[in-house]
Parts: sequence; C-alpha cells; structure tokens
Amino acid sequence: MKDYKQLKKDFEAKVTKLQKACKHTKFEWYDYCYRVGAYAGYQIKICLCCNKELTQKPTREERKEIRRKWLDDNMSNKLKKMCKK
Ligand SMILES: [Zn+2]
Repeated sequence: MKDYKQLKKDFEAKVTKLQKACKHTKFEWYDYCYRVGAYAGYQIKICLCCNKELTQKPTREERKEIRRKWLDDNMSNKLKKMCKK
C-alpha cells in the first residue's frame, strides 16, 4: 500500500503532465482568496480542464503598483494628520 506522501507525489506528477498537455481552452475567472473568506483583491483565471492558474487580474506588476499607490496615499494621509496635531 502506498503512503500519503507517495500518493501526493504521484498526483502532482500527473497534474503537471496534464497541465503541460492541456490547451487551456475553457477557463473561468475566480476571486482569489488567501484563505476562505479572505478576498485578496484580485482575480485569477483558472483552466477548467487542468486547474492551472493562467493569469491574474490585475497582474502581479499591476498589483505592486496598486499597493504602492495605496501605501503612498495612506502614508501621506498619516503625515497630514500628524502635522495637524
Ligand atoms: Zn488547462
């Protein structure tokens, strides 16, 4: 009998093989969550056949930019508040 680790390894190898062979013709956009109920603020495109993550919306680069802007805004707001005191 195979143990869990071996089964997992076999499964992952098969998924990798499937994802390499797949043409990714059917896909769906999903809200990406870090964990259940924790929406990360962006969507990922997942292939319905092989479950491969194809693209993210916004992309990694766009997310960096959004985060940078958010930080800039928040920091400048904090500084403004500090200066008012
Ligand atoms: Zn696919």
